[in-house]
Amino acid sequence: MKLFLLGLLAGVLPGLSAPRVPFAPITLYMQFQQAPPDGVLQALQDEVESIMEPIGLRFEWRDLAKTGGHEVSAELAVITFKGRCDTAGLISRGKFEGALGWTHVSDGQILPFTDVSCDRVREFVGPVLLTYGTEEDREDKYGRALGRVLAHELYHIFANTTRHGTGVAKESYNVQDLLSDDFQFQARESRMLQANRPKTVVEVVTGSM
Ligand SMILES: [Zn+2]
Repeated sequence: MKLFLLGLLAGVLPGLSAPRVPFAPITLYMQFQQAPPDGVLQALQDEVESIMEPIGLRFEWRDLAKTGGHEVSAELAVITFKGRCDTAGLISRGKFEGALGWTHVSDGQILPFTDVSCDRVREFVGPVLLTYGTEEDREDKYGRALGRVLAHELYHIFANTTRHGTGVAKESYNVQDLLSDDFQFQARESRMLQANRPKTVVEVVTGSM
């Protein structure tokens, strides 16, 4: 009897955490005060996708500066990267203050506008980045750190909540959170992200099966 139950659970559980039909992609419009190196941008996007993909959220990345006025997106967010987004000229002593990223709120409504401070993430993780041997490695880890900050802000927008939780949704990050090998959302916040997908999109996806 015990074996049967275990088998049944193993068969059911993957369906809970990984939706069989992915949600429609969300368009992310990016604008940079200073263009990042390709290595940073790639690592940033890879990290957001690896955090969000198991939950079922997919993204299309667009450069806001190159976007025409006639694109239609069911869901979108606009992300402004502030300051310097490269890994040259890092200093070994961090002088950190302020938020790494923030999402705009108006009259209690969360707006799909997020700012990520490249400068502050640089200052925060810079001393550790300097201990890596190659520029490639520094760009990779810095991009990943930026991706984690962005994933946190996207959680506020797409779970439509100002509250915090654990994992990527925790209120404040330490350097280890930003640079560790694995950093994910926990089950509660994953469910909130899935539950808040717009109904119309869910219906379109179901109807196409
Ligand atoms: Zn937050």
